[in-house]
Amino acid sequence: MSLIIDAHNHLGDRPGAVQTGAELVAKLDLAGVAKGVVFPFVEGNFTNDFVKDAYEQFPDRLIPYCAVNPWERDAADIVRRCISDWGFKGLKLHPTINGYHLADPELVDPLFKVAEELDFPIIVHGASDLYNSPPEFAIMARRFPTVSLMMAHMGFFWSVDQAISFAGEFDNLYLETSRAPIFEIQTAVKRIGPHKVIWGTDSPFVDYEFEFQKMRRATDDEEGYRQIVGGNIARLLKL
Ligand SMILES: [Zn+2]
Repeated sequence: MSLIIDAHNHLGDRPGAVQTGAELVAKLDLAGVAKGVVFPFVEGNFTNDFVKDAYEQFPDRLIPYCAVNPWERDAADIVRRCISDWGFKGLKLHPTINGYHLADPELVDPLFKVAEELDFPIIVHGASDLYNSPPEFAIMARRFPTVSLMMAHMGFFWSVDQAISFAGEFDNLYLETSRAPIFEIQTAVKRIGPHKVIWGTDSPFVDYEFEFQKMRRATDDEEGYRQIVGGNIARLLKL
C-alpha cells in the first residue's frame, strides 16, 4: 500500500503567512498523512534556508523542493546546490509572482535542463493566469519529455478543460489538485485517469483536513484514490 503524501505545502515566514515544519507535521499527523512536499513562499526575496532547516528537523516527514526566481542570474546554480548538496527532491516555480513566461527559453530552459540531468520533478503554479496558462505547460512538456511536470491548481479557474486535455496528451504532465474544486477534480479523473492526478493542499492557505477529506470524493475506485493521494507522487519521486 502506498504512502499518503501531500504534494504542495509552503514553509517559511513572510508578510501575511507563516508555517514551520513542526506546524505542518502536526497537520499531517492529525490527518493521517505520511509525508508532505515542502517549498518556500516565493514572494519578495526568498531563500531555501528555512526549508533546509525544517528538512533537517523532520527528514522522514518532509520532502523538500527548491524554489527559485529565474530572473536571478544564479538560479540554475541554486537549484543544483539544493538537489546535489542539500538532498532536495524537486523544484517549484511561480511564473506569475516572479513575472516570466513558463515557456521562456532563456530564463526557464536552464532550470529544466538541470532537472533533465539530475532527474527530479518540477511543480509550477498553474492557475489560469497569463504567465502559466496550460499551453505554456504543454510547450515545456513537449520540450522536456523526460521531466515530470506538475501543474499546481490544474488550470483553475478558467483553464481546467484545457489543462485536462494537455495532461491527457503528454505522458510527463500531471495535474495537482490544490485550490481546485471537487467537480473539476472528478472530471479530470474521469477523462484522463487517476494516474495523472496528484493531491496537494497548498497549506497554509487552506483548511488542511478539509483538503484531505476532499480527495475521498475524487473517485469511487480505492486503487485510484491511493494513486491520487500518494502513489503518483511517490512514483515521480522514486520513493
Ligand atoms: Zn502554493
